[in-house]
Formats: sequence, structure tokens, C-alpha cells
Amino acid sequence: MNQEKIWKAVLAQLEVDLSPAIFKTWFKETALVKIEDGVAEVSCPTYAKKRLEERYYGQIKKALDSVTHQKNELVLKTSVTSKPKNKDQETVNNYGPLFKPKQKRNSSTGLFPQYTFETFVVGPNNNLAHAVARAVVENPGKTYNPFFLHSRVGLGKTHLIQAIGNAIKEKHSDLRIVYCTGESFTNELLDAIRRGDRAESGKFREKFRKSDVWLIDDAQFIAGKESTQEEFFHTFNALYLDQKQIVLTSDRPPQEIARLEERLSSRFSGGMITDMQAPNLDVRVAILRSKRDREGLEVPNEVIDLIAESIPSNIRELEGAFMRVAAIARSQQKAITVDLAKKALGGIKQEKEEKLTAGDIIREVCSYYSVNLKDIKGPRRPKNLALARQVAMYLLRSKADLPFMEIGDVLGGRDHTTIMYGVGKIKNLMDENAKFRGEIRTLESRLR
Ligand code: ADP
Ligand code: MG
Repeated sequence: MNQEKIWKAVLAQLEVDLSPAIFKTWFKETALVKIEDGVAEVSCPTYAKKRLEERYYGQIKKALDSVTHQKNELVLKTSVTSKPKNKDQETVNNYGPLFKPKQKRNSSTGLFPQYTFETFVVGPNNNLAHAVARAVVENPGKTYNPFFLHSRVGLGKTHLIQAIGNAIKEKHSDLRIVYCTGESFTNELLDAIRRGDRAESGKFREKFRKSDVWLIDDAQFIAGKESTQEEFFHTFNALYLDQKQIVLTSDRPPQEIARLEERLSSRFSGGMITDMQAPNLDVRVAILRSKRDREGLEVPNEVIDLIAESIPSNIRELEGAFMRVAAIARSQQKAITVDLAKKALGGIKQEKEEKLTAGDIIREVCSYYSVNLKDIKGPRRPKNLALARQVAMYLLRSKADLPFMEIGDVLGGRDHTTIMYGVGKIKNLMDENAKFRGEIRTLESRLR
């Protein structure tokens, strides 16, 4: 039995013995890191360590002893990273960290320290964006304001906007920097409104309006939400008039953000708009080499070339493939060779060639219309949500060939007649309205 299986069995026993709330609170994020010579090392979140040691040590040990048929000594350690996200990561964790753990977000600015200009590789695909970003750091609020940066996903927007924040913090330590995403801005605002507390709303307002540098990542998310756009507009104006620096990122240029108020899209377009493209082969190689050196991994250049050639259009996927190759080599305790990399990448390619899944389609629709996954599957039917949902129905039918019944299931258990109606409605709309047809075509091209 491997560690993962052992721990599953231990948790299964504990789950029977404990109340669901206790189990969930204290045990959900535990893992067996190592078991050797009768010593079992168990990782847990910092907040849970004391409690587990004081209250549940005996119970954990009993379950573990019975699963492993031996007497174990138990050592609890706090985990560096939170729960492993995927299989590769688990393999990595079992052998100690392969990659340096991600550094913590700065609590006052909301920035991650690892996103800096030093680690940002510049090439023909992003050199303009990079130059503008540097200029913004030199003269916040003066040269390019607002700075609007757009690109498809995985091409470095978050990295660059955070690098701006981190560099300004270093250079102008007196300036107040506030980083948020379109989504977190929306959620915080709605929270403040829901609580109906004037002081809370005031605090929210103050946090943004008192900033010297306002960084908004994935700003497209605010589109289609009336109260959010209203608040956003006033915050934007207040800061702009005060010559405070504003930087926005988005997955498309302002005019193409569906249901973004005109007054906002014109404000967004009032400064510098720059895009970033997919990197060419040289840049991809440079990105991987820099990552290799930073992580101190032994990866031959030929392997880097191979990975860079295989993953052309998304830097996040490029890094993912690189880490996957390294993780597989580590788990098999082999050197990283071209052969091994080919095998590991073969898996990735196969995944890519599979048919579009319902999940892909729904996620893309959600991102395009800036709605939540939960909401699109949920019961609510405000206009923008209902439209996004029907577009999802249409694409699930036309792109994934799903039967109406199944579409109903994946969209939160809706009746198949509802789906038929929705698909028909979108077809009609496309016939009647050229702009809408364009929207659907854009979405379709993103799915390819
Ligand atoms: P986006 O926000 O556009 O979806 P991210 O900024 O999250 O993309 O980038 C995805 C990953 O690729 C991140 O890990 C980031 O550090 C890395 N990355 C993107 N562009 C570069 C670059 N020019 N040089 C080095 N790493 C990059
Ligand atoms: Mg991003």
C-alpha cells in the first residue's frame, strides 16, 4: 500500500468515529508525508497542528496502527503548501519539494513577491507591454494612465501587473498600492452592500479611493454587473482626477468586452492600450531555461527545446508541461532525458486531442460573459445569466454533440425541453443579429 492509500484508509476510519464537522475542520487537509521505520510523518495546516496533537493524537495513531498492522510513532508537521491539487503534485510532495514553494501574498498590497520584472522574459511578443510597464514604474500616474493590458489567458498579464506593483513598492515605498481582481472587487462590494452596513461600505470605498496605485487584474469580470460598474466608475474617476496610477488587465480590448458600460470602456481606452501575444520558440526556450535555473533543476537543453516546441500558445501550459516532466522523472527516480520527456509529453498531447468537454465549454462561456460557474448552473434567471446559460446550451449541443437530456444534467439538472427551447432561441438570435452572431463566433474560436 502506498502512502496515499494508507492515509485514505486512516481517514476513512476516523470519519466514522468523529462528527462530520470535526472531521472536516481538522482532518480535511492532512496527508501522510512519509512512513519509515515505524515513524509516520503527517502534514497538517498550521491552525490544526496543536489541536490534532492534543486531542486526536491517540485516535489517529490507533487508526494508523490498525491500517498498517504495526506500531507507529506519529509526528505532525505543518504543511508548506496547502492540499495537493493534482496527481503530479502529490508525487512531488511524497519526495520532498521539487519546486520552491510559492511565496505568500503580501497582506497589505495583495501582491505575490515572485512576480517581478527580473523573472519576466521579454521578447517580441511582449516588449511593448514591458516597456510601458517599466515607464509606469518610473512615473506612476504621469506617463501612461490608465494602462490597459490585454491578452489571451496564460500569457503573462497577472505576472506583469504584479511586477508593476512590486517594483513600485520598492521604488516608491510611500505609495499605497492596491491590487484586486475584477472578481474580488465585485465580491467585496456585494458583501458590503449585502451587510447593509454604512461603515462597511465606507471602508470598502476608502480602501480603493485612498490608493495611489490601483491595479485591477481581469477587469472584464465587472461587465454586466450594474452596481459593480457604478462603483468602479466612481472609484476610477476619483483616482484618475487625482493623477493616481491605474493599471487594468483583461482578456480582450475594452470595446470587445460584452456588456461593459460605454462610459467605462471609453475611460479604459483613454490612456495606453497594449496587448501581448503568444511567445515565439526562442522566448519559450528562454522562459523555461530561466525557470530551470531558478528552481535549480538539472534539465538538459534538448529537453527544454522539445517542451518549448510542443507547447506553443500558452505560457502557463508551457510551465505546466515542464513541471510535469520534472515531476515524472523525480517520481521514477530517473534523469530527465529526451526519451522520458517525450513520453511525459505524449500524455499531454493525447489529453489535448480529446474532444471538447462540457466543462471546457461552460468555463469558456462563464469567462466570456463574466458569470460564475455556480450561477450558470443555479436557478437564478436575471437577463445576463439566462443568456449566458442559453449560449452554453447552444455550444454544448453544437460543439460537444451532447444530447438535450445530458445538457440539462450538466447545467444543474434542467429539463430537456428547457434546453431545446434555449438552443432554438440562440439560433434565432444568431439569424437576426449580426453582432450577436459575432459574439458566438468569437466564443467558438476560443474553444478551438
Ligand atoms: P495571465 O494572467 O495572462 O493568464 P499569467 O501572468 O498568470 O498569465 O502567466 C502564466 C504563467 O506564465 C505564470 O506562471 C507566469 O509567471 C508565466 N509567464 C508569463 N509570461 C512570462 C514571461 N514573459 N516570462 C516568464 N514567465 C512568464
Ligand atoms: Mg491572470
